[in-house]
Amino acid sequence: MTPKYFCKISVIFLLFLSIFTLHRIAKADFVKTENIPYSEFRKLIQENKLEEVIFYPTTIRGILKAEAEQKGKKGVTTVKVEDPNLVKELVAHNIKFSALESGGWRGSLFLLWFIPMIIFLIMISRARRGATGAGLMSIGKSRASLYIDKNTGVTFDDVAGVDEAKEELKEIIDYLQNPQKYQRLGGKIPKGVLLVGPTGTGKTLLAKAVAGEAKVPFFSMSGSGFVEMFVGVGAARVRDLFGQAQEKAPCIIFIDEVDALGKIRAAAPISGGHEERENTLNQLLIEMDGFDTRKGVIIMAATNRPEILDPALLRPGRFDRHILVDRPDIKGREEILQVHCKNVKVGKAVDIKIIAARTPGFVGADLANVVNEAALLAARMGKESVDMENFEESINRVVAGLEKKKRVMSKKELEIVAYHESGHALVAESVPGADKVHRISIIPRGIAALGYTLQLPTEDRYLLTRSELLDRLAVLLGGRAAEEMIFHEISTGAQNDLERATEIAMSMVKEYGMSEKIGPMTFQKRKSQFLEFGYSGRESSEEISKEIDNEVKKIIFDSYTRVKDILSENKGRLQILAKRLLEKEVIEGEELREIISHNLPDPKNNAL
Ligand code: ADP
Ligand code: ZN
Repeated sequence: MTPKYFCKISVIFLLFLSIFTLHRIAKADFVKTENIPYSEFRKLIQENKLEEVIFYPTTIRGILKAEAEQKGKKGVTTVKVEDPNLVKELVAHNIKFSALESGGWRGSLFLLWFIPMIIFLIMISRARRGATGAGLMSIGKSRASLYIDKNTGVTFDDVAGVDEAKEELKEIIDYLQNPQKYQRLGGKIPKGVLLVGPTGTGKTLLAKAVAGEAKVPFFSMSGSGFVEMFVGVGAARVRDLFGQAQEKAPCIIFIDEVDALGKIRAAAPISGGHEERENTLNQLLIEMDGFDTRKGVIIMAATNRPEILDPALLRPGRFDRHILVDRPDIKGREEILQVHCKNVKVGKAVDIKIIAARTPGFVGADLANVVNEAALLAARMGKESVDMENFEESINRVVAGLEKKKRVMSKKELEIVAYHESGHALVAESVPGADKVHRISIIPRGIAALGYTLQLPTEDRYLLTRSELLDRLAVLLGGRAAEEMIFHEISTGAQNDLERATEIAMSMVKEYGMSEKIGPMTFQKRKSQFLEFGYSGRESSEEISKEIDNEVKKIIFDSYTRVKDILSENKGRLQILAKRLLEKEVIEGEELREIISHNLPDPKNNAL
């Protein structure tokens, strides 16, 4: 017998036992009685007012018939008298009688055992519910059963500012709605979709919306919820979750904070607690590999730390689709605000565009918070509708909260980042050998890169010429050069750029023989994957080392001069670009090229 059934049966048995006993006790011990003389007791028998009589060692108790009850008393007690006729009399009047060994002490004893037993059972049930969410009757059943939503009711209209992610998820919805259509030709449907992005950008909301749009049930569970105190519970829960989901297919399983569960195994120190997590992770991998996508179960997971995920989770057939759910740009924020403002009474004078402009770096959850806070403020002030003043105040409050978490950039910082990124972009568009700019953004992304300029290679490249490498180097230096030119000061924001630039220059000299002075010699092959310290290339003498350093330095300095020239020739463009970037936060490649081509350099600025 499994522990589960054993538990069920013992609970039912206990319940029966307690009902039975309670019934007895109620009659014998808990009936409110009145002490009466024996003579009166006999009279009650003769008048046929008693329903039952119980003999105790020294007393007799009589239970009154319902119609004979008096003053709320349901019974009578009298002292036992030697009366040989009593039993005959009881039989004659058809009154049930019985005897208890002693005056109810058994009942009390039973209570002594029974009450703690009930308390104990309740406690066990609570503890199990805490662990499994499903209560006493289903030990090991998953918490997910609590969060199953037959219909989430969330649609894509409720999620704003994440158009790219929505576009990618449309395919999943279509698949859930018509699984046969895709399987007809033997195609394999993705099993796992990983939503990657900062907290509060709407990953959970998106997953719910996919379920809502496809009208399928939504099972959800948090990665941290899997890893519980009871050994083996996590794995059992995963098994159960997948079991339940397969019964309800097509459906969506959503695992929030999957990183809590799927941390890189080696990264965790070896100690007891992690074994449980590993078991749970293994079970998840087993379930994902084992189940059949044809039934239409799609597993979605969310994380804000994809870099710490165990690579096993990301292998083909598992979470091999990754969808970025990034912080919204100004337009996205406007759309999100629209969504949330639908639920509150907003005054006519409120300009959502202005609110969006005032909230750079905010994610969907922050914006929802702003709207809610503003509505509360307006209500407190007894206003008819939420006005701009309320929004201002509410933004200030939310900003104060976020500043504590260091998630908001100051205006000055944003300006520096805007010029920095514009510098990269402008140089990239001005030199022939750099990849075209796909997008520039000043929306803060992780901690390391404040803004970013995304360049896409137009073709796969195997060979790079010297001038192409120099052009790449120039692009990397563009950010720093722009900062220096505009602010006459440099910030720490370019550290990564400089590192990469130096790397390129070093390789040019030491690996590719691209320096005239040193000539076509190599001094250092790429580091071996296995021998971190061993160069398989030639060791350089001290003299040559010095020369190498000089050559590297020269390449960088020459490039920097070149970049500064490019930028000062285009200072007008740089300023326009940076201003536009501050307004819009994101500029796509096409638009960037248009801005550059329409804004010819301002002759006044060329004087620099
Ligand atoms: P995540 O799972 O990425 O941490 P959530 O989906 O839990 O974020 O978002 C929390 C709340 O913030 C949502 O319930 C919603 O009210 C609001 N929200 C977040 N992102 C958006 C968005 N893109 N559009 C509309 N509301 C959003
Ligand atoms: Zn940079």
